[in-house]
Amino acid sequence: MSLRSVVKKASGQDVYICHACNDCDTQTSDDMDIPLSSLVQLVLLNDEEALECRTLWSDFALEAAHSACKRGLNLHTVMIALREESMRKAGE
Ligand code: SF4
Repeated sequence: MSLRSVVKKASGQDVYICHACNDCDTQTSDDMDIPLSSLVQLVLLNDEEALECRTLWSDFALEAAHSACKRGLNLHTVMIALREESMRKAGE
């Protein structure tokens, strides 16, 4: 299953609606290695770096993700779905 499908199934959010406006990149912190918009793009590319990047585990990013997307994506639930997928893969 693609990362996009994993996220959609777990969170109800379809990252396909992202149009790469980068509006979600205004908030950053030292524990983020990539911006939130790049995290979404990695999911769209089915790139497993999305499960390994430091941004996924940043508490700051998780909090900022609540209201980061101006296009209606709930990036907070997207991140929770990705964290769960990362932990599931780590347990394989
Ligand atoms: S704000 Fe939303 S639509 Fe824009 S790049 Fe970020 S996730 Fe994509």
